[in-house]
Amino acid sequence: MAAFGSIFMPRMALATFDNNQWGESKIVPSDSIPMHPGAHVLHYSSTCFEGLKAFRHADGSVHVFRMDQNIKRFSQSSRLLALPDVNEEQVAQMIKDIVAEFASDVPAPPGSMYIRPTHIGTEAIIGKAAAPSLTSMMYVLLSPVGDYFSGGAHALRILLDENGQRCAPHMGMIKSGGNYASALGPIMKAKEDVQADQILFCPNGDVQETGAANFLLIDGDEIITKALDSSFLHGVTRSSILTIAKDLGMTVSERDLTVSELLERAAKPGVEAVLSGTAAVLTSVGTFIHNDKEFKVGSGEPGPIAEKLRKTLNDIQWGNAQDTHNWLTKI
Ligand code: PMP
Repeated sequence: MAAFGSIFMPRMALATFDNNQWGESKIVPSDSIPMHPGAHVLHYSSTCFEGLKAFRHADGSVHVFRMDQNIKRFSQSSRLLALPDVNEEQVAQMIKDIVAEFASDVPAPPGSMYIRPTHIGTEAIIGKAAAPSLTSMMYVLLSPVGDYFSGGAHALRILLDENGQRCAPHMGMIKSGGNYASALGPIMKAKEDVQADQILFCPNGDVQETGAANFLLIDGDEIITKALDSSFLHGVTRSSILTIAKDLGMTVSERDLTVSELLERAAKPGVEAVLSGTAAVLTSVGTFIHNDKEFKVGSGEPGPIAEKLRKTLNDIQWGNAQDTHNWLTKI
């Protein structure tokens, strides 16, 4: 099967910012964009993006999950990178327009249509290493995706890294390309050295997130995850899972978690650890690797609470349960 995110719908929604204003959005071919080699984004990484999904329900209707939250984060990322402010209503319309254009291509569950809004600084100027791009481009790409767990869900091996960090601490909440590039070196090394699937970045013992997902620990009816600050991405899946956990009567503790507390709790039977994100939904962690030692989480296999939380979320997304929090936008 094609790798996640490697297939694109042939058209996208696109709008440009010039002369201090956003132009009308258009539907254009998605195979290329005009770009000067001196464009600001190519030199100074003035770029941010989003990742959200549209789902097909049994009656054929198509629904985008938590579009407002992703647009809010897109808007915040743009602002924090000194890109032109986006018009949130325009972004919403662009997402709706392009999803509507390809509504019949949205895969049925467990597949979905992955939606990738992107914002880049386009001014052709290499003299602005310390000044923002005055022009920009925003586009919304679509990529149909299958079941992330098609090979069967296996529990991940995760390296706990107390020495490195994913990105600069004030940048973590921004969904920007540079953050991902800066984490690649350590991630590749962890794969090679200890066959880890991912790194959980824990600078000075502070448990934060992995390269592309948030981290949550489930201990009995308590779910523990780091409280929001600028150091990590404020995941929409994280927020959805915490709301669902509360609905199910669990206790949600948003607070700091140290590596030593994590390892102590993970050793208890029945404890579960999960990664949350739009792509992977909820993926169980089976093993932590720390200072060359391996620690099983609970049984080392995907656990029942993660399974229940994931199913509850999927049921809402797939239209099998009431959308009590109004998370879906019908196209
Ligand atoms: N952290 C990082 C670094 C990510 O790239 C992602 C994926 N967008 C997440 C967390 C999870 O965020 P979300 O649930 O909004 O997909």
